[in-house]
Amino acid sequence: MLAVADRSDWKRWIPHVPFWGVHVAAVIGAIAVGWSWAAFAWLLGTYLVRMFAITAGYHRYFAHRTFKTSRVFQFVLALLAMSSAQQGVLWWAAHHRNHHKYSDEPQDTHSPRQRGFWYSHFGWVLDRQHHVTHIDRIKDFAKYPELRWLDRHDLFIAFAWGALLFFIGGWTALFWGHFVSLVAAWHITFCINSLAHVWGSRRYGTEDDSRNNPVLAVLTLGEGWHNNHHHYQRSARQGFFWWEIDVTYYVLKVLEKLHIVSDVEGVPQHIRDDEQKPARMRLENAAIVALVAPSRSADPR
Ligand SMILES: [Zn+2]
Ligand SMILES: [Zn+2]
Repeated sequence: MLAVADRSDWKRWIPHVPFWGVHVAAVIGAIAVGWSWAAFAWLLGTYLVRMFAITAGYHRYFAHRTFKTSRVFQFVLALLAMSSAQQGVLWWAAHHRNHHKYSDEPQDTHSPRQRGFWYSHFGWVLDRQHHVTHIDRIKDFAKYPELRWLDRHDLFIAFAWGALLFFIGGWTALFWGHFVSLVAAWHITFCINSLAHVWGSRRYGTEDDSRNNPVLAVLTLGEGWHNNHHHYQRSARQGFFWWEIDVTYYVLKVLEKLHIVSDVEGVPQHIRDDEQKPARMRLENAAIVALVAPSRSADPR
């Protein structure tokens, strides 16, 4: 029995190898290639595309269905987001729905309140018990075979992005545009699960510990308004006021003008101003999490 326990304990560390390996590759590669304006352009360009695809695609579309789009563009969003190697589109959205259903309760997969800061930041991602895609939580998108294919081949997609960038821009594109950008996108995305539940202000009396944090909002293209988001998840807009910068929402509004997306949900004023009535918001959010809002079909146009 002891031998079995030891072996399973050893297996726990397997996911750490590629995770920390990418960190090491990013540092060594960046030093070897060196800094240049081309490196800066690759880093910034790929970071912005990835982060937009994560926030607009994985989060606001696949997890929350806050706007509509075509079947082609939903595939494009998923494909772009998967360049960031945050596992598959269905895996990501299913875990995120679980986070909203049990925010900071014991069943929450990544709650600083329950398991500590570092587990909520990246420990849970490396925890093999969370590597399964819970299809039952994401049936509305799992019905598309192309999304299921992407979800199954997450590593291949991330490698393919690396190969494509290398083909286009050589070593500078590979190390700055893929590896360094990847590590930055990882940790800044992870900050929403960790820091955005411990650092910042709370406008709304949600039952979780979510915070609004302008620094994270800038870095994540709008996701830092996390207390707003936990207060009202139906909105594609997370910066509820004009001074709350939400780049993802601005881009979505431009895409709406171009007829690439539609039905981009805003924030009703009574909800925005509803700082003292968490009970009603809990009911609204529970309905969204349970996916029982019949007016919000997940079907592409
Ligand atoms: Zn969310
Ligand atoms: Zn949260």
